[in-house]
Amino acid sequence: MDFLRPTTWDEALAAKADRPDAVPIQGGTDVMVEINMDVRRPAALLDLNQVAELREWAMVGGMCRVGAAVPYARIIEELAGPLPGLAQAARTVGSPQIRNRGSVGGNLGAASPAGDSHPPLLAAGAVVEAESRERGVRMIPADEFYLGVKRSALEPDELIRAVHVRPATGPQYFSKVGTRNAMVIAVCSFAIALHPGERRVGTGIGSAAPTPRRALEAEELLARELDWTAPLDPALTRRFGELCAAAAAPIDDVRGKAAYRVHAIGVMARRTLAWAWNDHLGKRAA
Ligand SMILES: Cc1cc2nc3c(=O)[nH]c(=O)nc-3n(C[C@H](O)[C@H](O)[C@H](O)COP(=O)(O)OP(=O)(O)OC[C@H]3O[C@@H](n4cnc5c(N)ncnc54)[C@H](O)[C@@H]3O)c2cc1C
Repeated sequence: MDFLRPTTWDEALAAKADRPDAVPIQGGTDVMVEINMDVRRPAALLDLNQVAELREWAMVGGMCRVGAAVPYARIIEELAGPLPGLAQAARTVGSPQIRNRGSVGGNLGAASPAGDSHPPLLAAGAVVEAESRERGVRMIPADEFYLGVKRSALEPDELIRAVHVRPATGPQYFSKVGTRNAMVIAVCSFAIALHPGERRVGTGIGSAAPTPRRALEAEELLARELDWTAPLDPALTRRFGELCAAAAAPIDDVRGKAAYRVHAIGVMARRTLAWAWNDHLGKRAA
């Protein structure tokens, strides 16, 4: 197995262009498990750990640009203010060791339907910055990034450089059902982001369809019928839960039954909407 170790972003893009079969490795918390378990044996590994800029985040044009390698631990410590939904999801990932190594870039690269960063990225309307040596930068909205089970819109010669997320303008919540409280892959998960300025609510469903996805009809319902100054209408909340559940298309597997997942998505949708709405009204009253 060849081991490629670029030290700059340009070198990394060149290496990926010359060796599209090289598997990028960042924290290695997915890649090394796959290699150790003999799930794959790549001809080459492209180690991105020497490319320092991938570990940085910055505010760029009103968006928070989070380098692909920023680990969950730093998202929790440094970005819980502007990106509360992503930080909440990051707190539920693995263990401290996994949160120190694992990154949002790696979660995106793996594109597992169960990845915890996907629902909050979808709810917040995040955009993935991908780049190749030949075609330059490509900005991919999160809801166009996930194409199938562990399949993304990334081309073989592209690398993820960063993800752009607008700092929260309203409450955000992430909820995850697992078979225990820690070190658990989601049975299913749900994220919500209120965008009061746009009178819009964003959603993200995890581990309940072949890809992470938004509950579009549920979002449209709230955009149409939510009164942003009043307490939540229980009938509207119920309908929101039903439409979120209807947006899921899960399977039975070792972690849970499809029917349970559909039910749980509805419950999490109602709960997270209520939590977010309480915060929203509390802020208005303050
Ligand atoms: C014990 C354990 C517990 C876990 N718990 C959770 C959990 O609770 N929730 C969860 O979501 N995940 C969990 N994971 C999975 C894993 O930690 C996450 O998916 C993590 O985000 C992967 O990040 P990484 O930097 O380690 O990625 P890596 O393993 O380095 O890479 C993952 C994938 O992304 C690709 N990749 C990496 N960087 C780039 C890049 N810049 N451009 C293009 N492709 C790239 C790689 O080629 C690979 O396909 C767990 C893993 C372990 C071992």
